[in-house]
Amino acid sequence: MTWSRLDSPVQFLKGVGPVRAEQLQRLGVLTARDLLFHVPRRYDDASAVRPVGSLEVGEDATILGRIRSMGVIPTRAGLRIFQAILQDDSGMITCAWPGQPWLERKLREGDLILATGPVRFFHGRQMQPREFTLMARGKEGEAGGEDDPTGTIFVTYPASEELPQWVLREIFRKNLDTQLPFIAEEEYLSPELREELGLPGLVEALTALHRPTSLADAEAGRRRLAFDEFFFLQLLQAQVRWRESIREPGIVFRRSNALLRPLHEALPFQLTGAQTRVLREIVQDMMSSRRMHRMVQGDVGSGKTVVALFAMLLAAESGYQATLMAPTELLAEQHHRTIRGLVEAAGVEVGVELLTGRLGAAERRRVLERVAGGQAQLVVGTHALIQESVRFARLGLVVVDEQHRFGVRQRMALGEQGRPDVLVMSATPIPRSMALTLYGDLELSLLDEVPPGRTPVKTVLKSGGRREEVYRALEKEMEAGRQGYIVYPLVEESEKVDLRSATAEFQRLSSEVFPDRRLGLLHGKLPADEKDQVMRAFRDGELDLLVATTVIEVGIDVPNATVMVIEHAERFGLSQLHQLRGRVGRGAARSACILVAEAGQGAAERLKVFRDTGDGFEIARADLRIRGQGDLFGSQQHGRDPVLRFGDLSRDEGLLVQAQFRARAVVEEDPELTSPRNERIRTLLETRWGDRLRLYRVG
Ligand code: ADP
Ligand code: MG
Repeated sequence: MTWSRLDSPVQFLKGVGPVRAEQLQRLGVLTARDLLFHVPRRYDDASAVRPVGSLEVGEDATILGRIRSMGVIPTRAGLRIFQAILQDDSGMITCAWPGQPWLERKLREGDLILATGPVRFFHGRQMQPREFTLMARGKEGEAGGEDDPTGTIFVTYPASEELPQWVLREIFRKNLDTQLPFIAEEEYLSPELREELGLPGLVEALTALHRPTSLADAEAGRRRLAFDEFFFLQLLQAQVRWRESIREPGIVFRRSNALLRPLHEALPFQLTGAQTRVLREIVQDMMSSRRMHRMVQGDVGSGKTVVALFAMLLAAESGYQATLMAPTELLAEQHHRTIRGLVEAAGVEVGVELLTGRLGAAERRRVLERVAGGQAQLVVGTHALIQESVRFARLGLVVVDEQHRFGVRQRMALGEQGRPDVLVMSATPIPRSMALTLYGDLELSLLDEVPPGRTPVKTVLKSGGRREEVYRALEKEMEAGRQGYIVYPLVEESEKVDLRSATAEFQRLSSEVFPDRRLGLLHGKLPADEKDQVMRAFRDGELDLLVATTVIEVGIDVPNATVMVIEHAERFGLSQLHQLRGRVGRGAARSACILVAEAGQGAAERLKVFRDTGDGFEIARADLRIRGQGDLFGSQQHGRDPVLRFGDLSRDEGLLVQAQFRARAVVEEDPELTSPRNERIRTLLETRWGDRLRLYRVG
């Protein structure tokens, strides 16, 4: 099966010569297989197509008709209008395309057109198509061709100027029946399994994709093809998981409660239900012989640090060292302070050290010695931890306080010292479907509950015209001795976009608006130590107002900060806004988040979703629904997503769960896929999926 007829160049298909082949190539279609997997852009239900004769002025409709006559009509204002009279069985209507005289060269009498647009009154009924598709070419000099798309669903493909819809449709018409059967040899799901999953076979799915009998049929086909994408991705991730977690045993931690119990008793609060559940999942992993690779996804303020500390103390009470790596020095210092405080409160003898790039030579030497000697049981730090000079006596657990998804891969650097268990903490809630896709090699825990008793941050929307009020609100907080943030989407004024940039606004705010206050400026282009300095000054209360870009997202706990103003809020993703909002509301005082936006319709709706919920996971789902999944893996590929062409994370969570379950089951039983039963899967992985998946392959 390594070579298939479907791998032959598209040039050898019927109706495709060298020229068409090149045009197809520019659409990403190089082989017969690519053609089969050329995903339709949209489907139109024929039952929604209206008889021309029944159209009334004022409605917006889709029609299908042949061009009876056509021509370009000049107007007095110099505008040239292309007009065509379309006819179906029920009657005729004029269609007008103002300013598009060139259509005369593209269309002919007899062409079959699918058009959508408003019907107006202009010398009788007239449609101005907003969108139209040439479905079939009419014969020259003769009205009507023989290839009416008589199905009940009209399929529209991504086409191009040089390779229009009707040509593509002809290529499909001439080749689909001959090419489709070849895909049967790539079927890897047994009929029983397909039945269980409720998915059609491959041939059936591709038929449904190109010649659906109903919209539901097309959707069933899509789901099957989406399952394949998810399955093979999960298969690779399951293999990574097997290599990293299962193949060689991990440490089996022994729980004595010598440290866990005192911590429990010393905590000034009760763990939330979610913290307890996640902790149980972690402890189970750590006590098993599998090596833990778990990600904790938590909402802002859900209390990840204390969960991490419990895990670290479990390692310590089992005689191992544990380390916590944070993305910035400030965060590392913050974690160190928190952990040291809790350990002291618990009254246990545990060595806690901090290791960052800021340490002086002598202090660094002292810390390294304690790490190497094993006296430092809990080591908190930054990337400085993964330098070669850092040797642990007995490293048992690595916790990565993860702020950026690709940073996940860096966890491996620490993982090389012994085979420590690994816990990754993500501060960005993402929908489950997205987590399963991006982190399919990890186990996932959800901290989806915020401790009780917090006052929710009050969120308001303001138009730019009411900025004065916003400044007054800020002034009032500062008057009361509290601090605030103003966040801008850009660093410097750009000529193209009229956005208030952090740098320019910092100048203006300092001199004109808040001349008596202490302002700081923070953005990504500052050198790291300067950033650090500004952040430190703000934390220590030496600044009243921090003017910043989104760099404070990867932020820090400043309980005294009570106002977050976000300018051009419409430019931010909801999840990003959520992160920003999470910077306030961390102390006892009531906090506010003010979104300043010149919102158009869509933006206003989005921002209202945000205003009305504080649940990060719900916001992430809304974000996915509204903005789409985008370039998930940051593969920077042009054109089509290299992997998910069919898979739709806003709809396919259930399918993904199934795919992961199946893929993991296959790999646990037959990790290298050497059993004859899995031969087809292995070949498909190597030949069909390998390259596509390797673009962002993990591990
Ligand atoms: P995040 O998950 O955003 O990292 P942190 O771990 O920094 O959150 O915790 C946020 C704050 O909530 C901290 O001040 C922490 O002490 C507090 N906290 C954590 N768990 C609880 C709880 N169960 N009840 C009350 N407060 C808690
Ligand atoms: Mg945290």
